[in-house]
Amino acid sequence: MRKPVIAGNWKLYKTKNEALALIEELAPLVAGVTNVEIIVAPVFTVLPTLIRAVSGTEIGLAGQDVFWEEEGAFTGEVSPHMLLDAGASHVIIGHSERRQYFAETDQTVNKKIKAALKGALVPIFCIGETLASREAGETFKVLEQQLKGGLEGVTATQFAPVIVAYEPVWAIGTGKTASDEQAQEAHAFIRGVVTELMGKDASDKVRILYGGSVKPENVKGLMSCPDIDGALVGGASLKAQSFASLVRFGE
Ligand code: PEP
Repeated sequence: MRKPVIAGNWKLYKTKNEALALIEELAPLVAGVTNVEIIVAPVFTVLPTLIRAVSGTEIGLAGQDVFWEEEGAFTGEVSPHMLLDAGASHVIIGHSERRQYFAETDQTVNKKIKAALKGALVPIFCIGETLASREAGETFKVLEQQLKGGLEGVTATQFAPVIVAYEPVWAIGTGKTASDEQAQEAHAFIRGVVTELMGKDASDKVRILYGGSVKPENVKGLMSCPDIDGALVGGASLKAQSFASLVRFGE
């Protein structure tokens, strides 16, 4: 009942020509895949180029971040309507790299989620514990805080389109993946918190993606877990072949 999502986070990689070449190689490899939602998140500057390249394909586009104001004296920021205008339908919010390097907090994440929803962008809301938190036995506490903080003041109706991404910080870009059991345990916990916050209907419907060194070799195990509805992928999304095999995880 929940359509899986495979989303590629290209981070700070790919110039316009490189991005175009990647999409041109990827598009035929995922042609005809309609049972999986496919999204890629390039840097802002290449969105207008890619919107033309993905037209007629099953690939959707996301921004990697967004600001909460629509316009104004906010040098360096990009607003929800500007992202939509550039071709994005989705936006990654609260990625751990933004929390770590750009002082993103649950409060700024909350403002961004609300602004994205108001601007008709689908948030891909990232949460996840650090290694220190996991080792201190605080994984669930951190996930609950991030969920409650990020969704403060968001109603169940507003929440409906939101996609949640569970990304243990210790597994991002490290080659270390959470085991299927660790990931499933966290996802089930997240779904439980969503039930508490938004009700059973919302939690039955919300897609919860796993992120953290997902690759063709481990995707099947992760995707066989009942509460894992897709993947947010960094490294393995930068090559058409590996990203396409993630998209085609079920074949
Ligand atoms: C990410 O950037 O969200 C991510 C999960 O990266 P990687 O797949 O490289 O660990």
